[in-house]
Amino acid sequence: MNHFAYSKGQLYAEGVPLTDIASRYGTPAYVYSKQALSDHFLAYQQALSGKSHLICYAVKANSNLAVLKVLADLGAGFDIVSAGELQRVLRAGGRADKTVFSGVGKRADEIEYALKVGIHCFNVESEGELDQIQGIAARLNVPAAVSLRVNPDVDALTHPYISTGLKENKFGIGIDTAVTVYQRAATLSHIDVTGVDCHIGSQLTEIAPFLDALDRTLALVDNLSESGITIKHLDLGGGLGVRYKNESPPPIDDYIAAILNKLGNHDLTLILEPGRSIAANAGILLSKVEYIKDNGDKKFAVVDAAMNDMIRPALYEAWLNIESVVYRDSKTEEVYDIVGPVCETGDFLGKDRRLAIKPGDLLCIHSAGAYGFTMSSNYNSRPRAPEIMVDKETAHLVRARESIDSLMQGERTLPEAQ
Ligand SMILES: *Cc1c(COP(=O)(O)O)cnc(C)c1O
Repeated sequence: MNHFAYSKGQLYAEGVPLTDIASRYGTPAYVYSKQALSDHFLAYQQALSGKSHLICYAVKANSNLAVLKVLADLGAGFDIVSAGELQRVLRAGGRADKTVFSGVGKRADEIEYALKVGIHCFNVESEGELDQIQGIAARLNVPAAVSLRVNPDVDALTHPYISTGLKENKFGIGIDTAVTVYQRAATLSHIDVTGVDCHIGSQLTEIAPFLDALDRTLALVDNLSESGITIKHLDLGGGLGVRYKNESPPPIDDYIAAILNKLGNHDLTLILEPGRSIAANAGILLSKVEYIKDNGDKKFAVVDAAMNDMIRPALYEAWLNIESVVYRDSKTEEVYDIVGPVCETGDFLGKDRRLAIKPGDLLCIHSAGAYGFTMSSNYNSRPRAPEIMVDKETAHLVRARESIDSLMQGERTLPEAQ
């Protein structure tokens, strides 16, 4: 179900008109639907009921404490890539023992922190990292549960910047050398080998690459079992795509059913790390049209949100649906490029969009709940937008708009010359 839909000629977030949110909190603003987040998570949970599993929401997609708390309350685990994300999970009431730690460049202090709070597992991406974890775990005298992130060398058929499962990518350990690394890991005093992990990319709209990766990782599990290494969990990463425009990614149930079917009677706990498929369509970016500009060949709608608020169109050529919050007669529609105020040609939110708008109107940029706010920056000294979560008829401010003062906090000029 779509929780950002028109009713009586204007767009709502659940039961709250977006116009109300704009007048109360200003624009640009991120707006999330609690119900949409919950529905997406529960779709995973229901499809996996009866199977030993752990759904570890990928925090980097949207790390607001309110988002993490909604998911933690539903029983979610978490996939983190930094100590900062781990601290967010704990502050939101998430459990360390349901948290897995991914990423190619974990620092020693981050590993130590994760060991001290007792995370579920490290997804190890290199032999160097394995030795580092062994050293720190030995010093603290605690066991470290690890899985190796293997690179199954499958093509995720997605945008090259978000494809991670090919040999040429920086991620993981080659699946051919993995057995040797596992054998060595098994001899290390403070390493507890528990799993096999992979994550082949993001915004996948087909099931086939996931199943190819699963075939290869299952073959590895069987191989390891023959050499006396028992694997308890298989982590298939995240990556399930969502509909932005006209993509038709498999529904969550179909995706899970296909995985469970292939897992057959392997006695493995299944870990998944979905990010986008939970958060993307649970959020929108609300923006106001400042100016309409006509340069003869082209019309522009200059809006108050920019690439610093939402970088996906500039970075990944992402297409996001943009609608006018208050419905206007389609007879006044024109074709616009929707651009922000930042001094970069790449600063656009959408190109060639047919809209009926005038200055002062509100626009809703859809599918902005994942990799939206978390990738936002202060470029051009723009304070970051507030985040609002709607729960039925009520809008809650879950992160205040940054102030100009907060932008300069911690900065200072050089001392005066004597
Ligand atoms: C980014 C990432 C995810 C989440 O990917 P989505 O496409 O958002 O589901 C999961 N696992 C790892 C290791 C990641 O880097």
